[in-house]
Amino acid sequence: MKVNALASKTKGASLENFEYEIKEHSSFDCLIQVETCGICHSDIHMIDNDWGMSRYPLVPGHEIVGRVVDIGNEVQHLKIGDRVGVGWQASACLECEECLNGKENLCNKNVGVIVGRHGGFAKYVQVDSRFAFKIPDSIESNKASPLMCAGITVYSALRYAGMSSGQHIGIIGIGGLGHLALQFAQKLGNKVTVFTTSKDKAEFALNLGASDVVLNPTPKDKLNSKLNIIINTVPADLDWKYFINQLKPDGTLTFVGVPPKPISLPIGMLLDQRKRIMASPIGGRAMIQEMLKLAAEHEIFPVTEIFDKEEANLAIEKVRNNTIRYRAVLDFRK
Ligand code: NAP
Ligand code: ZN
Repeated sequence: MKVNALASKTKGASLENFEYEIKEHSSFDCLIQVETCGICHSDIHMIDNDWGMSRYPLVPGHEIVGRVVDIGNEVQHLKIGDRVGVGWQASACLECEECLNGKENLCNKNVGVIVGRHGGFAKYVQVDSRFAFKIPDSIESNKASPLMCAGITVYSALRYAGMSSGQHIGIIGIGGLGHLALQFAQKLGNKVTVFTTSKDKAEFALNLGASDVVLNPTPKDKLNSKLNIIINTVPADLDWKYFINQLKPDGTLTFVGVPPKPISLPIGMLLDQRKRIMASPIGGRAMIQEMLKLAAEHEIFPVTEIFDKEEANLAIEKVRNNTIRYRAVLDFRK
């Protein structure tokens, strides 16, 4: 079967129409007709080969929501017509200790939807059905798409950093990931402080439930050292010592955005008050389902700008220059 898609044909290139052949599906696969697909900053990193693992032509797109139109004969939990979401992960071994403990995202055989295979900027995508999740009816497709990567990434990172409720959480960067992190933290009963470099986002963050906002943080700011957890969603080199100093004793700085340069700091900054630095990739299958349920219950939805597929390059440009508010979503239904 031939699939119409959008691809970057070389490193950093604009998207162009591209057609490829989908192979016969295996017994656990499902074929999804794409309705919507979010644009995550990781798609841009992949287009630009920032991580040295891109293969061209590259069809980006790993915040996929669509309808199941075909399934393999071993698929039990889905039927034709179901509306499902697929995130970064396309498959895993499902046999190793991590997979058996519900941490499929930590499996060393995990495969990314857009790594060495084609993603969701397309009319159809084929994946292992065990990585396709039913979307609750109350979440419309354009709102569900960003939950599949941005949503699960921040939810899982905050949970593994120890977020429960009654805490004070810091969020660095109010982009696709950051504005969902703010909602998960606040709607689950935490106070939230936002750090942003964009003036207009300060008011937006307060309206979305933040208790306070630090615009353009600098070392001259008053030190509050009040935060239990800080999540960094920014892919840039910031003053990490400043953020460690904002943590309470036993506080955790967790990274989901990856700064280009290594971090260098005196261990004493962590040791004196038993602080931690950690980093977190996407989320496992059980946590994806928990996250979707919570999002539906608490109405944790992204703020989206919707683009037709013909406008995909414009949307990518807006993500690149940080003028998107707050997640670009491509609609493939027309
Ligand atoms: P995004 O929508 O572009 O948001 C990134 C935000 O970072 C921007 O909105 C901006 O926030 C801030 N920012 C950007 N450049 C900056 C700079 N030079 N200095 C200071 N702040 C800057 O991106 P996203 O889709 O949320 O993704 C964020 C990062 O997470 C990406 O690197 C992506 O690859 C990564 N990611 C990781 C995982 C994982 O599994 N760990 C999953 C998905 C994405 P303000 O305007 O508020 O300052
Ligand atoms: Zn992503």
